[in-house]
Amino acid sequence: MLQDKFGRRFHYLRLSITDVCNFSCEYCLPDGYQCDTDRDFLSLIEIKRIASAFAKLGTSKIRITGGEPSLRKDLPEAIRACANTPGIKQVAITTNGYKLPDHIDSWVEAGLTQMNVSIDSLDPRMFASITGHDKLDVILRGIDRAIELGVTVKVNAVLMRHFNQHELSSFLQWIKTTSITLRFIELMQTGDNQLFFNKNHASGLPIKEQLISEGWQQIIRDKTAGPAQEFSHPDFKGRIGLIMPYSKDFCASCNRLRISALGKLHLCLFSEQGLDIREYITDDDTQRLQEELTTLLGDKKSTHFLHDGYTGATKHLAMLGG
Ligand code: SAM
Ligand code: SF4
Repeated sequence: MLQDKFGRRFHYLRLSITDVCNFSCEYCLPDGYQCDTDRDFLSLIEIKRIASAFAKLGTSKIRITGGEPSLRKDLPEAIRACANTPGIKQVAITTNGYKLPDHIDSWVEAGLTQMNVSIDSLDPRMFASITGHDKLDVILRGIDRAIELGVTVKVNAVLMRHFNQHELSSFLQWIKTTSITLRFIELMQTGDNQLFFNKNHASGLPIKEQLISEGWQQIIRDKTAGPAQEFSHPDFKGRIGLIMPYSKDFCASCNRLRISALGKLHLCLFSEQGLDIREYITDDDTQRLQEELTTLLGDKKSTHFLHDGYTGATKHLAMLGG
């Protein structure tokens, strides 16, 4: 099992397969996806080799992300490649949900077990103004189908002072009867969004306090569970999660490594350029990759430096997958 000098163990890989996106979320790609050069994204064979190499190093869960991963036509094959890899027990995706109703059946058939969908507002007009697309009803329909198919669904909502901060009660109403985990994510600063961040960052702590005062109980999670805090309530089918990257000890439970769509391994969402692993996955021999990773993990810092406004090379999270 891959481990760093702080005793953190890395059994979870976030694998980006494209940085292209069709949405223009205010905090991520407000002007839409821009790129004027050709991009050589990981091929299916490279995805297979990465899954197999990381499984041999103790990875049991792979999340496919982007950009928007569903824009790749071979997404079902990518899911299948991960799901068929011995040692990989869970295959998840993170998606904006745009293609859900038409494609969720094929993703599940390929081996998808878990899905995170981003919905920052349950008000269709607000949703459209945040993302640039009037697609909330389509996405909600797709989520219903995913639940029917037995997929574990989490919904991510980025907290933004001037957009959705007043929407807690409508989200709560939704999860009264819907068995999803709704996770509020504190807005993070990236290289490109400083002004937006300064205007809109809001702490998740007031939500935590409100939940506790209304009888929600914090769930004691497994040591390997990662940095989200989760809450349940006997009157609600769904759960609430809080992801507060600016809170103390957030990085202590880090359990994930990231690979960009261009094949760079990142130890942190906010690290510098990353290690190009393509040269280590030209065949099925994982020895060199294992040695490189072990050396690299010796350098993993105990925490990010977001509190000091340091965002590394990450211009926006579409580059690496969030
Ligand atoms: N396109 C997919 C989606 O939106 O779900 C996957 C990629 S997106 C970069 C992954 C997650 O990162 C989404 O839930 C998104 O809301 C979140 N995200 C993007 N930029 C963020 C930021 N600056 N702060 C916090 N979360 C962010
Ligand atoms: Fe696209 Fe996801 Fe970024 Fe929104 S958050 S612009 S859907 S990559």
